[in-house]
Amino acid sequence: MIKMQRIARKWSEQMAAIIDGKKISAEIKEEVKQEAALLAEQGRTVTLAVVQVGNDPASSVYVGNKKKACEYVGFQSLSYELPEETSEEELLRLISELNGRKDVNGILVQLPLPEKISEAKVIQAISPDKDVDGFHVQNVGRLSVGAPGFVSCTPAGIIELLKRSGILIEGRECVVVGRSNIVGKPMAALLLAENGTVTVCHSRTKNLAELTRRADILVAALGKPKFITADYVKKGAVVIDVGIHRNAENKLCGDVDFASVEPVASAITPVPGGVGPMTIAMLMVNCLKSAQREEGVR
Ligand code: NDP
Repeated sequence: MIKMQRIARKWSEQMAAIIDGKKISAEIKEEVKQEAALLAEQGRTVTLAVVQVGNDPASSVYVGNKKKACEYVGFQSLSYELPEETSEEELLRLISELNGRKDVNGILVQLPLPEKISEAKVIQAISPDKDVDGFHVQNVGRLSVGAPGFVSCTPAGIIELLKRSGILIEGRECVVVGRSNIVGKPMAALLLAENGTVTVCHSRTKNLAELTRRADILVAALGKPKFITADYVKKGAVVIDVGIHRNAENKLCGDVDFASVEPVASAITPVPGGVGPMTIAMLMVNCLKSAQREEGVR
């Protein structure tokens, strides 16, 4: 019995540190709130225009959370809830109008859009200077050459999570599973910019586990529930779980099988409460930057 208890204690001592995205995102929002208050003292309000087409329930939740965050940090949000039948032309007209408005600092078009509207066209129509999602090719290009610009919020949030948790990136083996334009690719570019040694894996990667087991920092962004098990993880690795899924019992889970990976990892993000809250916090940071740039503050 005593031996069992000793083993259990030893095991628990080896459990991973939980990277608390809720706490870190709250700190960031607090910082943004203070900066927004300074702008307000100069009579300036930071304004984010949020555009949603149709009423996809998940999109409505995301849009609602973004508006709530704006309110919390002291930004104004302008809400455009357009019907499902909205044409591409009408949406592009609205974006053009918002691009021209001096009082609008950021424009966010909630994805996905109805099929008949080209997402690429809409994203490229947003002024790169108001593209707080960081999806415009100009901002993607700026990221890849190391020039300042807006960076996609989820990967930018992951860098903040790592830095604020005291996790060193420089010189470490970083493996990103997933190569989407909004998560995987910008994640790889950011880790590279922090001097990590970066490998990007995708659905055609051969011997995935062999590559992921090399990672000191493993980012799972493949969109497959609980896919990354302990077999994919090196002992002592830092594991960042980007995935968000709802299981049959309506409970949230990520791309990482938390129960099997936690004992192997040195640090891990939970789902919920890991990467998720960081995305909105970084959106607030991007809106603030946009307003400050206009003001010549930074
Ligand atoms: P996408 O579906 O756009 O991309 C998934 C990527 O994973 C693709 O590059 C795909 O490869 C790769 N992939 C799929 N299956 C495998 C596999 N078996 N082995 C290796 N690679 C694979 O997803 P996103 O990047 O948009 O999102 C990823 C996850 O993160 C999703 O669960 C999403 O819900 C979540 N997410 C969470 C956010 C947050 O705020 N926490 C924000 C954004 C996304 P290929 O290119 O070859 O098809």
